[in-house]
Amino acid sequence: MVLVFLLWILIPEDYIQSFFLVSQELLVFLTTPIIDFLGLLLSPTVIISLLFIIFIAIILMMRIRYHIKRNAVDTNYCPVCDNKINRRHRKPIHHLLSLFIPVRYYYCKSCGWEGLRISSKVRRKK
Ligand SMILES: [Zn+2]
Repeated sequence: MVLVFLLWILIPEDYIQSFFLVSQELLVFLTTPIIDFLGLLLSPTVIISLLFIIFIAIILMMRIRYHIKRNAVDTNYCPVCDNKINRRHRKPIHHLLSLFIPVRYYYCKSCGWEGLRISSKVRRKK
């Protein structure tokens, strides 16, 4: 408090005014490019092309998912000891992964192995 008061007395008023003026100009100088960039991002061309890219990405993801599911070999046996494995509740990270690759979480009662397997539960028309 005393220091601020001392500075107030010692620094000439012109300096303080010019400091505020410079800081205001600096703020405008720094924020103008950001505002311009946001304006560019919100243009219809950019939005439409982004939506198109997202649409294509979703279609590709669905195709890849379908093929992985179709080619998966659904073995319910432990890769370590060849005993039967049981399903277990998936963790949040597995649910996230499951958006891209259809996986299920299994564990083995006899050897303690636990891990993910690709599930092939796809309905095939006959
Ligand atoms: Zn096992």
